[in-house]
Amino acid sequence: MAPPMKSNLTFQIFRDFMNTKVPQAGRAKMPNYYRRVLVASNFLLALLFLAILLMSVVFNHHVDWIGIALLVGIILKSTMIDEMNMHINLLVHAVIVLLWSGWYVHAYGWNSGGQHFLTPLLMLIFFSVYVRPGIKVLYFCVVLAFRILLFNYTLSHEPVVQMEMNTLVIFQTVNTLFMFIITAVNCIVFSTSIQETERQLLIDNQELQHEAETDALTQLPNRRSIFDEMTRYMKENPESQFCIAIADIDFFKKVNDTYGHNCGDYTLRELAACFRENAGGRYSCGRWGGEEFCFFFPGMNIDDAGMIMRDVNIKVSYREFEFEGTSFRITITAGVEEYDFRSELVEIIEQADRKLYVGKTSGRNCVIV
Ligand code: GH3
Ligand code: MG
Ligand code: MG
Repeated sequence: MAPPMKSNLTFQIFRDFMNTKVPQAGRAKMPNYYRRVLVASNFLLALLFLAILLMSVVFNHHVDWIGIALLVGIILKSTMIDEMNMHINLLVHAVIVLLWSGWYVHAYGWNSGGQHFLTPLLMLIFFSVYVRPGIKVLYFCVVLAFRILLFNYTLSHEPVVQMEMNTLVIFQTVNTLFMFIITAVNCIVFSTSIQETERQLLIDNQELQHEAETDALTQLPNRRSIFDEMTRYMKENPESQFCIAIADIDFFKKVNDTYGHNCGDYTLRELAACFRENAGGRYSCGRWGGEEFCFFFPGMNIDDAGMIMRDVNIKVSYREFEFEGTSFRITITAGVEEYDFRSELVEIIEQADRKLYVGKTSGRNCVIV
């Protein structure tokens, strides 16, 4: 297939952006990284406002009362970040930045660089995860229109404060410096938070997958997981033989009835440990359900699998189970079946299950091959 044309791709990126689903903010807490960006931006802006106001007094002998009002505004806003939700925070922030840029360019002229601060504002708008794409585009249009109007305004209006070239360079430099620092801080916080979120997602996914595949009581693979493993093996090794065994604890109900359900749980955990200890890489074992376990012997014929299963059966019967001062033993019965290169997986399992039933009816504590 031909790669999409550039214009198509741009359109697709825009369409995907417009269709982005945003988290339902409701009264949900503002994301931590966004709060960090706001705190840093507000602090740096307040510092900038203060620097400019002081510079204005020193260089121009001009007390900028509206600038002072905006400084008070940004300080007040900094103290109220946690009282306002993300939308209000963004709105108030945008209003203050627009007012500052507008007022600043009006007072000191376009060349002093007050319009620079619209760029980090755009960043703040587009990284607001709870803001809908349509609203972001609206903000974008307002900021863009504001900047164009501001420039056109300066074409027909002289700045209130006329500055010498040297002073203008200092103002422009301070503005550029702060704009770069604010942009860099925003970038650092946003990019590290994305990386951190990705990392956390990966860990959470791995944990979820482990939970979905593991039996909570015995920590063995659960029924679905062992079934998937066998299916995968059959698919990847169509020429290879294998065996399956189903094992069931004998008279397990008695363990529960005599020593209690907790003891029953303990027995299942201990038995699982016993199966794991004896595996030695020769079989996989999962909890099939209740007190039944499924064994999978990849690449093995029924003689070998039967032998291993008999060995497991003996190991279990010799194992001492100790629970709250009482010690007891249990036995298991198992049925083993070999793959015949014809049957479905479920049929082989059913066959192993039938052999298990034969074992149960012929005295238990045995392995039927
Ligand atoms: P048989 O030799 O014929 O298999 O007899 P049995 O008593 O083992 O079989 P039965 O099917 O009558 O009873 C199985 C018992 O296993 C009943 C059930 O309460 C118990 N069991 C199943 N899952 C759990 C579990 O997770 N924890 C505990 N404690 N008991 C369980
Ligand atoms: Mg049983
Ligand atoms: Mg059973």
